[in-house]
Amino acid sequence: MKRPFLLALACALLLTGCTGPAQPTHTPTSDPTAESTTFAMDTVMTFRLYGGTEEDLTAVTSRILSLEQDLSVTLEDSQVYALNHSGGEPVTAGEDFLALLALAKELGNRTGGALDVTMYPVVKAWGFTTSEYHIPDEDTLSALLANVDYTSVTVEGDQVTLPAKMELDLGAIAKGYAGEMAANLLRERGVTSAILNLGGNVQTVGSKADGSPWRIGVQDPQQTTGGYLGVLEIRDQAMVTSGGYERYFEEDGVRYWHIMDPHTGAPARSGLVSVTIVGDKGGLCDGLSTSLFVLGREKALDYWRTYGGFEAILIDDQNNIWVTGGLKNNFTLVADSPYTLNIVEE
Ligand code: ADP
Ligand code: MG
Repeated sequence: MKRPFLLALACALLLTGCTGPAQPTHTPTSDPTAESTTFAMDTVMTFRLYGGTEEDLTAVTSRILSLEQDLSVTLEDSQVYALNHSGGEPVTAGEDFLALLALAKELGNRTGGALDVTMYPVVKAWGFTTSEYHIPDEDTLSALLANVDYTSVTVEGDQVTLPAKMELDLGAIAKGYAGEMAANLLRERGVTSAILNLGGNVQTVGSKADGSPWRIGVQDPQQTTGGYLGVLEIRDQAMVTSGGYERYFEEDGVRYWHIMDPHTGAPARSGLVSVTIVGDKGGLCDGLSTSLFVLGREKALDYWRTYGGFEAILIDDQNNIWVTGGLKNNFTLVADSPYTLNIVEE
């Protein structure tokens, strides 16, 4: 079920790639010089380099695979797995794990716990890890929530401790961070133009080979426009979306999605159906896409005004789109859109 869908998503998002309006005639330099598709971190990833080589591609792929190896919640020799099976004893964490824990903690604090990387037992109870979906009863949820609290994760140097009954999962931030690290690596290797799609988390390096910005489709959460509802132009940045349409099940006409409110233990009902974040740091964008979805429009925009450093496209369940001021010249709705576009100024 999931993989073909993700493939379609990976395809639809990149207007520069396999779909979209009539393509301009390609000059030799407008084709990627190296490209690949990989399955990693539970998703389909496509990497396209313009000016980069097969060696650059190999370097990026091995960086991503080693991140997965360290950070996966299911691979039995990962650092996260070791922590989750440590019985409360300290575990040694590598640089990436430590960086992600610091980011998770900071975002947890700034969002009043809307991002909580110890939600894994709750996510499992709803069946989102196995696709055997099921609505847990209140007692089960409150028992599980008693052991959800990211502030209980402690870090001293490279030693991380997690209380015995808790489980940690970096799924809400790892893919964005992976894209960020991949982009850094490509820049260090002298690659000036690349687009990486990590299961819908898009990371760009530089601009297109002809110097124009990357044009990326923003998925229509309700599919009213068929595919994407608008196009965003970015350079050298990440664009990460969390949507209620990405992974969900339905029961008695109600949709239950995989973005959960740590305060209720249930899918977040904030009125938002999709949150797209654009910024320089993919890890931060990923963490914000999840947590601002949980917070809802007003608190999300308060967060943006308070901390800044990113731009956002929020879509609510009433067909409204809220675009933060910094994107007003970079975002275009498709023609005849059923959505109402609102620009949010500071
Ligand atoms: P995706 O990984 O599907 O692109 P997200 O980045 O929004 O989507 O991450 C969602 C994943 O993070 C869920 O599948 C779940 O494992 C985990 N998660 C869900 N809600 C939260 C939350 N409030 N805080 C931290 N992790 C969460
Ligand atoms: Mg996220």
